[in-house]
Amino acid sequence: MPMPLGHTAIGLVAFETARTPQRSGNRLALCAYITVLANLPDLDILFGLLVTGNGSAFHRGPTHSLLFALGAGYLASRLMRRWPNGPQLGFATSALLIFSHVAADMLLTSSPVSLFWPLELNWSMGYSDWGNVIRLALFQSLQDFVIACLAGIYLFIVRKVRGTTVVHEALLALFGDRAKSAR
Ligand SMILES: [Zn+2]
Repeated sequence: MPMPLGHTAIGLVAFETARTPQRSGNRLALCAYITVLANLPDLDILFGLLVTGNGSAFHRGPTHSLLFALGAGYLASRLMRRWPNGPQLGFATSALLIFSHVAADMLLTSSPVSLFWPLELNWSMGYSDWGNVIRLALFQSLQDFVIACLAGIYLFIVRKVRGTTVVHEALLALFGDRAKSAR
C-alpha cells in the first residue's frame, strides 16, 4: 500500500495537474498542507492505534470514501480562510488532494476502500501495532520509491512546460536566498 511518501507524491501530482494560478504565499506551508491533506484518510490508523492498539481496527472505513473527501475538503478549505496569510486551497483542490489518497489506495492495492460509504463499508483486515505501522511507514518503501520517482519525472516535465512547480517554489523558498548570496 502506498505509505506517506507515496501519498504525498501522488498528492503533488494531483495538485500540479489541477493547479490554477494562485496568489503567492508561503510555498513550504503549501507543501505541508498538500502533505497533510494527501495523507489525511490514514488518520484512521492513528485512531485505531490510540483506541485499541490495532492500527487496522478502523482502517479504510469512512475516511476512505468520497463523502469524507468532500466533507473534509470543505472543512479544510474553510479552516484555511482563518489564516489569510497562509496558503489558500479552495474546496475543489482540497477535496481532490484527499480523494487522491482514496483513489491511490483503491487502484494500487488489493484490499478495498469504502468509496461509497455509508452505502458500503470495508474495514481493512489484520492487525498492526505501533511497531508494524512505524516499520511500514518508514521501510515499506519500494512501491513508494517507484511512485516518488514517477511523480518526480512528472513534476520535472511540468516544470519544463510551465516553468515552475510547487516543489520547485518550495525549494527556492528554502534555499533561494542562500543560492543568491553564494553567487
Ligand atoms: Zn489509506
